[in-house]
Amino acid sequence: MTARSAITIDGEPLTLTTPIEHLVGISPDHVSRLKALGIGSVAHLLTHLPHRHEWIRARSGLGEMEADVIGSGVGEITATRIAGHGRKSRFECVLMDDTGRLDLVFFNQAYLSKKLTPGMVLRVQGKPKVHGPGLQLANPEYDILEPEALDESPDGDDEYRPVYSATEGITPDRIREIIAKVLPEACSLLEDHLSDEYRKERALPTLADAYRMIHAPETEDEVGVARRRLAYDELLLLQLGVHMKRAHLRRTLKAPALPRTPEIEARIESRIPFELTPDQRHVVEQIAQDMSTNTPTNRLIQGDVGSGKTIVALCAMLRAIAHGHQAAIMAPTEILAEQHYLSISKLLEGSRTRIELLTGSMPSDERASVVERIGAGKIDLIVGTHALVSDSVRFHSLAVAIIDEQHRFGVEQRAKLRVKGSTDEGEETPHVIVMTATPIPRTIGLTIYGDLDISTIEHLPQGRQPVTTRLVRPEQRGTVYSWVRERIGIGQQAFIVVPSIEKSERSGRDLRSLMKELEGGELHDVHVAAMHGKLKRQTREQIMHRFRAGKIDALIATTVIEVGVDVPNASVIVIEDADRFGLAQLHQLRGRVGRGDTPGVCVLVADPKTDDGRERLDAMVQTSSGFVLAQKDLEIRGAGDVFGTRQSGMSPFKVADPIQDQDLLMLARRDAADWIDESPTLDRNEDALARRRLLKAHGQWLGLGDVG
Ligand code: ADP
Ligand code: MG
Repeated sequence: MTARSAITIDGEPLTLTTPIEHLVGISPDHVSRLKALGIGSVAHLLTHLPHRHEWIRARSGLGEMEADVIGSGVGEITATRIAGHGRKSRFECVLMDDTGRLDLVFFNQAYLSKKLTPGMVLRVQGKPKVHGPGLQLANPEYDILEPEALDESPDGDDEYRPVYSATEGITPDRIREIIAKVLPEACSLLEDHLSDEYRKERALPTLADAYRMIHAPETEDEVGVARRRLAYDELLLLQLGVHMKRAHLRRTLKAPALPRTPEIEARIESRIPFELTPDQRHVVEQIAQDMSTNTPTNRLIQGDVGSGKTIVALCAMLRAIAHGHQAAIMAPTEILAEQHYLSISKLLEGSRTRIELLTGSMPSDERASVVERIGAGKIDLIVGTHALVSDSVRFHSLAVAIIDEQHRFGVEQRAKLRVKGSTDEGEETPHVIVMTATPIPRTIGLTIYGDLDISTIEHLPQGRQPVTTRLVRPEQRGTVYSWVRERIGIGQQAFIVVPSIEKSERSGRDLRSLMKELEGGELHDVHVAAMHGKLKRQTREQIMHRFRAGKIDALIATTVIEVGVDVPNASVIVIEDADRFGLAQLHQLRGRVGRGDTPGVCVLVADPKTDDGRERLDAMVQTSSGFVLAQKDLEIRGAGDVFGTRQSGMSPFKVADPIQDQDLLMLARRDAADWIDESPTLDRNEDALARRRLLKAHGQWLGLGDVG
């Protein structure tokens, strides 16, 4: 029998796709445990990477361990007991082997009495202390071993070994053994998608060596070498995908060219009611440049809350309309869409531009009429929610599509809106501009938004009023609201934000009871109204209209007002149970005030129960910069979370860390750009493996199915 057939039950040669149940020596129970971890094949075993590594000291007999020296031994539990009471309780356990006895003590871990029982075999590691006649090990690292381990003779060397995440019913040790068994053969089967020359230039090991070194390192350094290769691969494949997508777009799709003429510039200029800031002017200029050719624009505008992105978007839309095309802007909430509709209508008063609103809550006949006129080219500028990308909508000639507050949408919606504008032949596409006030740290931006050009509006418009942020405890709410009443008394308006509409178990203060409390108390003699997502559209519009007109003094709202809402006379925002909101959300909410002539005040009412909650609120008090807060948020939550839940639904990297691995990211980005320049669809023979791996990892979310 060859070595190769020795580890499969049917004697077939091992392959990377061999199911784990075909491997010799894994019990059916362990097979199902591994499957629960997502491990079904040899390849999965190989890519189940250790989350850390540790030194295991050479094992000695228990009776040979020395006081105050780190040692490691294996023994059987012969007795256990719980000593002490309550907070002072401890779990004690006696471990024996042929050479002697070692006492273990675990403080505050009485629950271990259920997990560690007499008869079990443990490996322990730690520094024993003299205790009575013998030695005692306090809170040691331990592994539960199979009983046979007791009979194995101690081996002589210290070992640096991987630690794997495991699950109920299978120990990390067992996983390590299974992986170790297939590792040499599996590695020998691995093909590398990077050539020898390519790797040498970048000092990267082969893929096979990388997996060998991360699962079975001979030195600590090897782990670093392996990590670098695996992280590079993750970053490279993503960047290849992003660049391939971009090249494909540029090659196959054309957008209407919207060249500049003095006439058109003058027409756009005449609609801007104020002096653009230098930053705004610069971005308007970049976009005009982008759109003057038929290469589709794909640009992200990031600018802090209140930096004035809307007017920049409007300039782009007017350019399309001046050329006889349509323009659309998509907002994440109905309230924001309604507001854009109102404010843009006002700016365009007296012009020939035909503008309409399209949202999901419109009566169906009204909706159908708007959809019909969009298709017939009878509407020039459409403001809407994601209703804009519903199936029934067909544009006549969409030249510019704007997505506001992009971070609230998925990557897919951006793609959808682009497709929407395409003609049936699929060759015409709109210029796409996405906007966000949730700044993404540069490195992350480069990874997820790598296919976009990025413009930044850094400075707020002149004369913007500062916002002071105060953190107060719930006991001081009375004082807060009597102060709010005073501000209303001198003609200002307030937002009051609560986490939920109705009382529920987990929620804090709710809208209904707060409304009752304030109307019967501090705010009994002023106009108060409620605003939340469950109201009918007309009611909502009326309330916003009356708030804008100053007929409502205080708006008690849920987070429906989080993004975009722009009422310059509102200078106060009180956020109840502020620790229940995320940092980005709090910053957005705070951005609702300080938009007029009066300095804004943001009052965070909270008694934070967690460290994270406290950190978030402290950060809010300390800085008003969205960029600083985004960085802070990243530190508090970790990069994985930002990727995973907020930005795109994309899973986090397994190895790469876009913050730590910045240099590697820049290298991968440059390499990917060069590679795609040379081979835009990766259709050369030597690219085949990289292409396959890239499509497998990112083809779906990047919508690369149609490429090449
Ligand atoms: P955001 O970037 O948060 O979407 P908006 O576009 O809503 O910001 O702009 C915020 C407010 O600032 C609006 O009332 C807008 O009219 C005003 N604004 C924008 N640009 C300027 C400017 N250059 N000068 C004065 N006010 C401006
Ligand atoms: Mg906005």
